[in-house]
Amino acid sequence: MKKKLSIIIPSFNEEKNIRPLILKVTEILAPTNYDFEFIFIDDGSTDNTLNEIKLQAKLFSNVFYLQLSRNFGKDHALKAGIDHANGNAIITMDADLQHPPELLPKMLHLWEKGNNIVYTYRVDANPHVKKRQKITSKLFYKVINLFSDIKLENGASDFRILDERVVNELKKIDEYEIFYRGMVKWVGFSQIGIPYTPAQRHSGTPNYSFIALVKLGISSIMSFSVRPLYIATGVGIFFSVASLLYIPYILISIFTGHAVSGWASIIATISFFGGLQLLVLGIIGMYVGKIFLQTKNRPNYIINNKNIELKKDSIIRV
Ligand code: UDP
Ligand code: MG
Repeated sequence: MKKKLSIIIPSFNEEKNIRPLILKVTEILAPTNYDFEFIFIDDGSTDNTLNEIKLQAKLFSNVFYLQLSRNFGKDHALKAGIDHANGNAIITMDADLQHPPELLPKMLHLWEKGNNIVYTYRVDANPHVKKRQKITSKLFYKVINLFSDIKLENGASDFRILDERVVNELKKIDEYEIFYRGMVKWVGFSQIGIPYTPAQRHSGTPNYSFIALVKLGISSIMSFSVRPLYIATGVGIFFSVASLLYIPYILISIFTGHAVSGWASIIATISFFGGLQLLVLGIIGMYVGKIFLQTKNRPNYIINNKNIELKKDSIIRV
């Protein structure tokens, strides 16, 4: 029997990219010996994306769609797609053709050779990528790797093949905040990465603003590590010890009758420690917030409309 591939494509305002993507991927996969299906997730688009996907679903019997009830964010859209896929492997890729479909045969070959996860990372030799974008992206991975327990390659992308064994595990994960780039590293199995050069966006504008990237960075650090809490504790210990060393100076000042002087240093110290305490409280507060969100046990996504069944149970093939 032919092996089946489920191609999962989160789409937010991608009306002009849907059809070109289907055509391109079909052109590349048709000569191979795989059955394949497209699962588009309309992540609350405000343009004509959903109608475009529905139109393609009428034209091609292997095109499916999930319409989320609002914009949930790319990782949540991916989760929705994964929960509805039952291929021998799933492929996740962006709708804007920045993830080159030409790379698929090579990736599939590596998967067939026994790699459970074939991921890709961006190399920025590309003149299309703006300098500011390159710097923020570098910084993003540096910060994540510094503060978190998982190591991400510079430019790790969401273009990858996941074997059904990995998919079975991912389906079981019901965390409120999902960050697949980290999660996929975290699940383990045998992994292999290949570099790619991103193409220019086929149509439309990128949806991630700088603020959105910062938010993504913070949440990805916090969902994989409590290291910031340890750092906060470390800083606290350091300053407590340092302030103990200050005691002899205070005593000497009292005995020599200079107790009133030093007002400026007291104010400076108080405000410094005030700031530090607020920072540490803020870090703790963010973790408490995460616990709060997780305990409410809300779903990762809400589906408004779809033409494909949920396949949450593990796939067991004989
Ligand atoms: N996307 C999504 N929901 C969002 C933002 C983006 O599903 O809230 C999708 C988008 O349609 C695209 C992919 O995620 O298929 C990557 O988005 P984009 O091209 O804007 O990001 P970049 O290329 O800058 O990583
Ligand atoms: Mg893009």
